[in-house]
Amino acid sequence: MVDFIQRLINILGASAVMTDTHETKPYLTDWRGIFQGIALAVVFPKTSAEVQMVVRLCIEHAIAIIPQGGNTNLTGSSTPEPIGQQIVLSLKRLNQIRSVDLENQTMTVEAGCILQHIQEKASDSGFLFPLSLAAEGSCTIGGNLATNAGGINVLRYGNMRDLCLGIEAVTATGDILHSLRGLRKDNTGYDLRNLLIGSEGTLGIITAAVIKLYPAPINRCAALIAVNDYSIMVNLLQELQRKAANELCAFEMMSRASLDLTVQHFPQFANPIFKQSSHTLLIELAEFSTESRSSQILEDVLGKALESEQIEDVLVSTSLTQVKQFWGVREHITLAQAKEVANIKFDISFEISRIGDFITHTCDLLCKSYPGIRIINFGHFGDGNLHFNMCPPIGSDKSFLKTNEAEIHRIVYEQIEKYQGSISAEHGIGQLKRNDLEHHRGPTAYKMMKQIKHALDPQNILNPHKVLL
Ligand SMILES: Cc1cc2nc3c(=O)[nH]c(=O)nc-3n(C[C@H](O)[C@H](O)[C@H](O)COP(=O)(O)OP(=O)(O)OC[C@H]3O[C@@H](n4cnc5c(N)ncnc54)[C@H](O)[C@@H]3O)c2cc1C
Repeated sequence: MVDFIQRLINILGASAVMTDTHETKPYLTDWRGIFQGIALAVVFPKTSAEVQMVVRLCIEHAIAIIPQGGNTNLTGSSTPEPIGQQIVLSLKRLNQIRSVDLENQTMTVEAGCILQHIQEKASDSGFLFPLSLAAEGSCTIGGNLATNAGGINVLRYGNMRDLCLGIEAVTATGDILHSLRGLRKDNTGYDLRNLLIGSEGTLGIITAAVIKLYPAPINRCAALIAVNDYSIMVNLLQELQRKAANELCAFEMMSRASLDLTVQHFPQFANPIFKQSSHTLLIELAEFSTESRSSQILEDVLGKALESEQIEDVLVSTSLTQVKQFWGVREHITLAQAKEVANIKFDISFEISRIGDFITHTCDLLCKSYPGIRIINFGHFGDGNLHFNMCPPIGSDKSFLKTNEAEIHRIVYEQIEKYQGSISAEHGIGQLKRNDLEHHRGPTAYKMMKQIKHALDPQNILNPHKVLL
């Protein structure tokens, strides 16, 4: 292996090859601290050509490669396994914004660009890059593409897949796929870009992408709504979509337990409205022209709902500072959960009409079997995505979840199947859910996925045993 490491150094320079176990530790553990792995080195290429040379060297030595961006995923997908010979290939230093094309409304960015930097660059150019999630200060666009990230604006702008026009990637056989074009129509054979998006680093290493920019809103308006009934949430969503389809950006739901936990750890976000109902909705409308009537629509729709006693209370923002304050609580739920002794997380999705029944029924089953269990349920209600998580009853320690995790898992997965949902809405499969994928997707879909993996990565060199067993 000395020869292999020396050749890595010859390609990248000594400062881009990290082997000291103290230094490599953060790259070998996942964000939640569940998975730990080993690696011969963590390497930091600065160009696509360097990525290609590293891949070719790894092919020659039969060393696996674990691509890594900001390492913020929640499924262990960028953590190497504790056995085998592999390197972590960090894209962090491949982080240039190559160009901004204002006429085509696109930006060409390298994979290691931090999402927040891309948002800021778009904003400086008078545009919006709409992907937004709580990890945006540290996740990278390459990781966003590899996980097909979702976040809070999917309702209006779609997932990362919908925000990407072109891609550049190093393949598992050491070639470079040059497809960095900003075309909005291109039906020329199989869609390789979309095959790589969401493949979690198992089919290619994304080195750059052409992403879409949108007109920036001139104003934002948000509301917190106290509500007790899921069917009313669906009605409100439909009503707002009818009246302000193009302006409705976010429709988020937070359960009382998720808010209580967040306020307990981050008291600065406390708001009396949280105490008035079993759930609070956070919705946002954006205004794109001075003629926009979105705040008026919001007030009309919510005023009527209040009058007819469908909702308990409502608080409409009066300034951008207040909009940000409203979002603070939503963005801190995951961080509040991370402060608990232990938790189980389900990132799941349903057709919107089935969400209410799933939640009611599954919460019932869990609360009967595990009195005191705290169900931290929140998510992107507008696009059917729930973060349906659990913390042990107050006073219980880590062992509660350890003892009961398998059975809780079985109960929740059975209900997901019953209500025809998905076991992963936006976080992917990684290591966390790889044992469940075949059953969930069925034998034909799973076999096709394995065939694709084998065709594109015959040596199983890219992120082996992630997604697929
Ligand atoms: C507080 C918090 C909130 C979050 N909220 C959301 C949310 O709302 N929506 C959402 O979708 N996710 C969310 N996530 C999950 C996470 O932020 C996303 O999955 C993000 O897209 C991962 O980006 P990353 O750069 O950190 O990738 P990493 O975690 O480093 O990697 C993720 C996967 O992508 C692969 N990969 C990384 N870079 C490349 C590349 N250049 N080429 C090929 N493969 C690559 C890795 O091998 C791995 O399989 C959240 C995470 C946290 C911690």
